[in-house]
Parts: sequence; structure tokens; C-alpha cells
Amino acid sequence: MGAKETAKALEVIGFDEIYLTKRLTDGNKRIPGDRTIQDKRGLLLEHFNSFKDCTKCELHKSRTQVVFGDGNPYSPVVFVGEAPGEDEDRQGRPFVGRAGKYLNTKIEEVLGLRREEVYITNVCKCRPPGNRKPTPLEISACFPYLKKELDIIEPKVICCLGATAGEGILGKKLSITKLRGQTMPYPYNTKVLVFLTYHPAYILRNPRADGEFTEDMRKLKELIGL
Ligand code: SF4
Repeated sequence: MGAKETAKALEVIGFDEIYLTKRLTDGNKRIPGDRTIQDKRGLLLEHFNSFKDCTKCELHKSRTQVVFGDGNPYSPVVFVGEAPGEDEDRQGRPFVGRAGKYLNTKIEEVLGLRREEVYITNVCKCRPPGNRKPTPLEISACFPYLKKELDIIEPKVICCLGATAGEGILGKKLSITKLRGQTMPYPYNTKVLVFLTYHPAYILRNPRADGEFTEDMRKLKELIGL
């Protein structure tokens, strides 16, 4: 791949020079082994290129493009949503619509971070038609891609936004209203915790849940040691 093509691909998956700032370079110390910043960027780029033309499930028929994760690969937290919506499908980035703006506000106000300083992705990488929920079959077809993304980043906490994300990652049915604000072990890595909260789109439909979401973000802040 040429330099121009590499730069374009990096832009598609949301990298920018922020990863070279001191703050995030410090984060590098948390990474086990001898990986460097360049390694993680390269690994994610290689991963994205390996499935950007995927046709493993029905969702490839209606998508504009595969929407990969976006943000800082050294973030202590990875937010995982359900699947791209219309805006995300068009722009090729996760959480860029109204729900994304709400999430960005909470990341800034409660965590004290900019969106670019965390990493955001989805359990399904292609938009389901009409913004329906992805089916269990679609989620399981796509899960290996998410798992590899999480293996590369290895955050302290995976924050599942909504039941679909939680079910995709934990592989079991769950009630988000009962389990929100709680942590669970991540089945594939004992160093990583799974934290559950509402999907931001739910808060937009039910503004009274804003307080609970804020409360969950405060707990998340403690979990990631900010
Ligand atoms: S949703 Fe995932 S498994 Fe299905 S086509 Fe898209 S990338 Fe492939």
C-alpha cells in the first residue's frame, strides 16, 4: 500500500496525530509486551483492511461501507454500540449522529476527555436496513472482527452501550435496566472488565434516564482510574 493510500485508510479508521501526544504516549506504558504506538495503528489498519469487503452476512447487501471503530487505540475504555445508523453508514464512522453527539457530551463533561481520546466501535460493522436491530446470526458473524479489534486495543474496560452490545460481547441475554452500572468479566481476557449502560439513543427517547447514564459514566470514570 502506498503512502497516500495508507494515509487515507488511517483517516477512514479515525486515526490522527493525537496518539503522539505525551498523554497518550504515557498510556503506552500500560500495554503489555513490546508493542509500540505504531504497532497498534498498524495492527488495526491491517485488521480493517482484512474485512472491509466482508460479505459474511446479509448486512453487506444494504450497507454503503463497513464502519470500523474510531478513536484512540490506547484508550483505557472502548465504547461498543449496536450497529451503524444512517449517518454512520454514510460517513463511515461510528456514533456521528444525534446519539453520538450526546455520547460525546458525556465523555467530555463526565470523563473529562475528548472523543478523540477514547475508542468507539460497534458489535456489527454494517448498517441493518431501516435501522433495525442486528439479528443474533449477524452479531455472531461479525463478532470475530470486534474481538480482534478488542484484542489489539486491550482496554481496561469495555463499556457496552445497550443490551445488544452487552449480549454480543457476553454471549447471553441480559436486561440492561437490571444490569446497568455493573461490571462483569470479559470472557476472553481476565485483565479486561465489561461495564454495562444504556445506549445513548435510548436516553434521547427517554430523557429522564439521563441522570442514570451520567451516574454510570461517573462509575466508568472511577473504573478507568481518571
Ligand atoms: S455486519 Fe460484519 S459479518 Fe456482516 S457483512 Fe458486515 S462486516 Fe461482514
